[in-house]
Amino acid sequence: MSKTKVEYLSPADHRDLYSGLIRLHVLHHAAHEPIFGLGMAEELARHGYRISPGTLYPLLHGLEKRGLLRSSEIQNGKSRRKVYRATAAGRKALQAATGKVRELFRELIEGR
Ligand SMILES: [Zn+2]
Repeated sequence: MSKTKVEYLSPADHRDLYSGLIRLHVLHHAAHEPIFGLGMAEELARHGYRISPGTLYPLLHGLEKRGLLRSSEIQNGKSRRKVYRATAAGRKALQAATGKVRELFRELIEGR
């Protein structure tokens, strides 16, 4: 085998690989409870995804535009906070994706 120079990219450079996972993660939480931008960024960071507001907010808007999330404003002390919940279509999409994730998990993790 010839030696080829491989450039190892940092996890941030593999954003495109993770973008679907992040969307599914957002959808998963929004199906269980109302989520908001900062809280979701913290939750994603807990899982090792560092995502800036400049990426997360357009992602949330995009999911809302596609009818998978619905936003509403709630009173949070003296300020108002925008929260997102999964719509029926969002739950359905999540359910369909769960089957695909299960398939991938079997191959990646369980090796079958
Ligand atoms: Zn989570």
